[in-house]
Amino acid sequence: MQQSVFDQMQQMGHEQLVFCHDPHSGLNAIIGIHNTTLGPALGGTRLWNYNTHEEAIVDVLRLSRGMSYKAAISGLNLGGGKAVIIGDAGKIKSEALWRRYGKFVNSLNGKYYTAEDVNTSARDMEFISMETKFVTGVPEYMGGSGDPSPFTAYGVFIGMKAAAKKAWGSDNLSGKKVLVQGVGHVGQYLTGHITKDGAKVYISDISDAKLKEAKEKFPNVEIVDNNKVLDLDIDIYAPCALGASVNTESIKKMKCPVIAGAANNQLADENVHGPMLIEKGILYVPDFLINAGGLINVGAELDGYNRERVMNNVEKIYDRTMEIFHLCETEKIHAQAAAMKIAEKRMRDIANVKARL
Ligand code: NAD
Repeated sequence: MQQSVFDQMQQMGHEQLVFCHDPHSGLNAIIGIHNTTLGPALGGTRLWNYNTHEEAIVDVLRLSRGMSYKAAISGLNLGGGKAVIIGDAGKIKSEALWRRYGKFVNSLNGKYYTAEDVNTSARDMEFISMETKFVTGVPEYMGGSGDPSPFTAYGVFIGMKAAAKKAWGSDNLSGKKVLVQGVGHVGQYLTGHITKDGAKVYISDISDAKLKEAKEKFPNVEIVDNNKVLDLDIDIYAPCALGASVNTESIKKMKCPVIAGAANNQLADENVHGPMLIEKGILYVPDFLINAGGLINVGAELDGYNRERVMNNVEKIYDRTMEIFHLCETEKIHAQAAAMKIAEKRMRDIANVKARL
């Protein structure tokens, strides 16, 4: 029997789930607020054509929880939140939809700040900002920090280098074969960094248009069939599409020694697939640690944006990744568990600080 929404919220530790509906603009959105111990919840809005509403609920619950961990491990004073809008990105986007959604975000009075995610852009944030100040990632010409993807990609590059250092003794990616699955915003910026570092890059996507765009920007990359990526003999798998691509079936077929990519919720089930990766000898960089660059960037808008400080914090992903690998070894736990342990400790410690005079 399927669990009720409240059971799922309890199990994952959520504070609030907000359902937003507007028939005029066609808006059906769910805002998930996981944990606001460290500060207001901040996380992007994903626009996706979910098959069922249950699928959307599971996604927003998983994504918002990941944001709490991401903020905590990155030393940010932010809570975890995320939103999903249900619909076809090619059809439902309109000024009215974004502004109506902005009103719903505004009604939460700053408990939740939104930003970009899959299928949402800085331009969409501009519409949202017409109705609420609780939005980040607005265009630079409006005083915001713009698209967070370049920062996410840079952080993934840094974390990938740390993993390479651990796996091969050098963080130079020269000659390494890297598969970037999903060449959207982050995937393309990441491809830029790793090709520059000398890696041989393979790309796959479900969108031919995205593959063409990436190939035009980076002529040396090799396009591979998205259904055959697991047959490839590669050194690093970089999942940069949607979640759960690391699952029982895919792990069995994987030949890569390292997984380091941008996608949120890469492990279909952390309790099953974290240990499975260890058994298979695959080094995994926890998703919410390696892809925190974008959150670090948009979060900085709340404190008065300073690019140098942002880059400094994004570069710390290298040491944080090393710290996780160390904890895995000393405590004999898998990487996701190690990262969660550090994040949970910070949340507990700060809750204790806040509870006292
Ligand atoms: P995007 O929508 O720009 O790109 C995603 C790409 O993946 C698209 O080109 C899409 O066609 C492709 N794709 C979708 N399903 C696929 C599949 N099954 N196989 C192969 N390709 C597929 O999104 P993005 O902003 O680049 O984000 C990519 C991932 O990184 C997402 O999981 C997102 O949540 C995560 N992430 C993004 C940011 C950010 O700053 N944009 C920050 C943290 C995490």
